[in-house]
Amino acid sequence: FDLKNEDLKDLHELGQGNGGSVKKVEHVPTGTLMAKKIVLIDAKPSVRKQILRELQIMHECHCKYIISFYGAFLADPNICICMEFADKGSLDGIYKKIGAIDIEIVGKVALAVLEGLTYLYDVHRIIHRDIKPSNILCNSSGEIKICDFGVSGELINSIADTFVGTSTYMSPERIQGAQYTVKSDVWSLGISLIELALGRFPFAESADSDSDLSDLGDYPDFNETLSPARPGSLSLAGGLASLSLSDNSSPSSRLPPSSKRSSKPTSAKSSSTSKKDKRKSKGVSLQGGGMTMSILELLQHIVNEPAPRLTESNYWGARDRDMEEEGLEGVFPSEAESFVDACLLKNPDDRLTPKLLLNHPWIQLAQQSEVDVEGWAREIP
Ligand code: ATP
Ligand code: MG
Repeated sequence: FDLKNEDLKDLHELGQGNGGSVKKVEHVPTGTLMAKKIVLIDAKPSVRKQILRELQIMHECHCKYIISFYGAFLADPNICICMEFADKGSLDGIYKKIGAIDIEIVGKVALAVLEGLTYLYDVHRIIHRDIKPSNILCNSSGEIKICDFGVSGELINSIADTFVGTSTYMSPERIQGAQYTVKSDVWSLGISLIELALGRFPFAESADSDSDLSDLGDYPDFNETLSPARPGSLSLAGGLASLSLSDNSSPSSRLPPSSKRSSKPTSAKSSSTSKKDKRKSKGVSLQGGGMTMSILELLQHIVNEPAPRLTESNYWGARDRDMEEEGLEGVFPSEAESFVDACLLKNPDDRLTPKLLLNHPWIQLAQQSEVDVEGWAREIP
């Protein structure tokens, strides 16, 4: 494709992220449907050209688990990135529409993401850096593919007001400022899989909570404190490290002073939690209603507390009864639980790479599984 903006007919908007918006477009000369990502870049012309050069490597990414790249061009003050259109959208949109995703389908998602990550790393030495349900797409043929990987260092640095890579899917080591490795992607995959299987973000107290902790862009306070936070930079780590949050249970001043859940005792099901841990997690789960907790508290929690698990869905208490009512407790195969646990090992030295995780029993099961992903995808409205 020789892409020109004037050949692209806007159809409708597919969604908005922190970096820009994505539109469904038609490439009129060929009739091809595409997703056009429009990123506002606050950078000099030389940097823009550099970004375009860096993006060209995506032309060489050919893998059925990776969204294809059609091309990128400048449309001042934006950079437009045109890619394969996935007609069922991203997995976050899907589970928000249809609820928790069947664990066998989630197994296929895990397989696809591991294959995609292994391809990117083995063939191109690319680390994704932003694995989360909104970057895992699905089409009506039942294909599952990843998109939005960090190919361009300049793009990552230039996105105005960016939180790329700085999300609550971020691994403990990244929150603490360590370099990205493929193992950070594995952590993000683990969090994403729990979210899909439970139908809610694992760190949010309830699915219908007003706060979307998976999206840092909504947190102006965080913005002010840490901006400009850039992936790969140590400023974020310095920011977090220097902002030592009190580890007592006093609610942040931005939180509603009281909530209807505030008297609800927390579950002490997790027997390994120390006394101190319990006090802390109590502080967290006491925040009902509007904002569950401040983003900094959440990031600190990810660093200091045990990782979430597929089955201990009462991670922060208060969910046991809901889960039982939904019949979700204990319904996951032990292989799935073991896989998620392996993704969420807090020490990256203990965590396996995507390539090695392809040998995990749950992934082997997913490979053999004849679950009808296409039939499942077709039913998504
Ligand atoms: P963030 O900016 O935090 O990474 P995001 O991934 O949701 O969040 P975008 O990458 O801008 O933000 O995407 C916005 C939405 O557009 C996505 O949630 C997804 O639903 C939709 N989308 C993105 N790419 C495609 C595509 N190739 N095909 C279909 N829908 C897409
Ligand atoms: Mg995205």
